[in-house]
Amino acid sequence: MYDIIVIGGGPAGLTAALYARRANKSVLVIEKDAFGGQITHSPKVENIPGFYSLSGNEFAEKLVEQVMLQGADVESCQVLSVSDGGEYKTVKTDDGDFTCKAVIIATGTKHRMLGIENEEDFIGHGISFCAVCDGAFYKDKTVAVIGGGNSALQEAILLSKLCCKVYLIQNLDFFTGEASLSEQVKNTDNIEIMLGTVVNALHGDTDGELSKITVENTLSSQTSEIDVDGMFVAIGLVPQNEIFASLIALDERGYIKADEGCETNVRGIFVAGDCRTKKIRQVATAASDGATAALDACDYVDGR
Ligand SMILES: Cc1cc2nc3c(=O)[nH]c(=O)nc-3n(C[C@H](O)[C@H](O)[C@H](O)COP(=O)(O)OP(=O)(O)OC[C@H]3O[C@@H](n4cnc5c(N)ncnc54)[C@H](O)[C@@H]3O)c2cc1C
Repeated sequence: MYDIIVIGGGPAGLTAALYARRANKSVLVIEKDAFGGQITHSPKVENIPGFYSLSGNEFAEKLVEQVMLQGADVESCQVLSVSDGGEYKTVKTDDGDFTCKAVIIATGTKHRMLGIENEEDFIGHGISFCAVCDGAFYKDKTVAVIGGGNSALQEAILLSKLCCKVYLIQNLDFFTGEASLSEQVKNTDNIEIMLGTVVNALHGDTDGELSKITVENTLSSQTSEIDVDGMFVAIGLVPQNEIFASLIALDERGYIKADEGCETNVRGIFVAGDCRTKKIRQVATAASDGATAALDACDYVDGR
C-alpha cells in the first residue's frame, strides 16, 4: 500500500515523486521504458533552468538519482489499467498489482512516426520533433520538415530563420494549417514546398547521422533523393492515455482533461505533464505540473 503511485517516469512523474517524498508520503514510480522519458532522446538540451547545456540522458540520470535519494520506490513494468475503489485505487501492471490512496498519471505523449523501417535509429541523430528545442543545432544547414498542419508550418517558419534551406514536405496536395501560416511559408524564399510528397526511405552517413532522404511524388510515383542534415517530423502527437479512457475524462484528442491544478474528474486521480490538456509541452512545464499534482495529491491523502 502506497500513499501515491506515479505512472510514468519522465520529468513530470519524477518531479511529482520528488515533491511527494519531501512531503513524507510513500511513493512508487512505475515506468515501462527508460526512466527520464522522452527527453532521453535528445543529445543536447539547452533550455532546462539551471543547466547551461547537457544531454537528455544526463538530465534524466540526475533526476532519477535525486528521486531515489529521497527514498521513492521504482518499478520497471507497464501499467495496464487503474481501477478506482474510492478511498483506494488499484494499479494493475504486467508484473502484478499495486494499491494506493492517490494516483498521478504522467504518461506523456509519443510523436506520431512516419512508419519507415529505420526511423527510430535516427531519433536524436538527425530526426527531431521540436524546432524550438533542436533548431539551433541546424544553424546554416539544410533540413526537411514533414507535415502540413499548424505545427509543421510553424516549425518550417522558425527553421527558415536559422537554416540555409528548408524543404517542407506534405503528403496531401494542400496544407491543413491556418491560411496565414500557409501564406507566410509560401512567401519565405528559403522554404521549398513539396506537396503530394511522402518520405519513404532514410539514409545515414558512416557515423549513423541522417544525411539523405528518399521522397516519392504520390501522383507520378517518381522518386528522388534529397541531401539533408536534419528532418523535423511534425505529423502530430499521440497521448499515451488509452488505458484510462474508461476511467477519466479525456478531450477529443485523447489528452486527460485537467485545469492548472492538475486534478482529473475522479477524486484522488491527478495528472501531470505532456499527457494532459495544455498549450506548451516542455521539460519545464512537465516539472511544474509534477510539483502541482504532487502537492494536490498530498493534500488529498491528508484529507485536506
Ligand atoms: C527528441 C526530443 C527532444 C526534446 N527536446 C526538448 C528540449 O530541448 N527542451 C524541452 O524542454 N523539451 C524537449 N522535449 C520535450 C520533452 O521531452 C517533454 O516535454 C517532456 O519529456 C515531457 O515530460 P513528461 O514526464 O510529461 O512525459 P514523458 O517524458 O513522455 O514521460 C512519460 C513516461 O511515461 C512512461 N509511460 C507511458 N505509459 C506508461 C505505462 N502504461 N506504464 C508505465 N509507464 C508509462 C513513458 O515510457 C515515459 O517514460 C523534447 C522531446 C523530444 C522527443
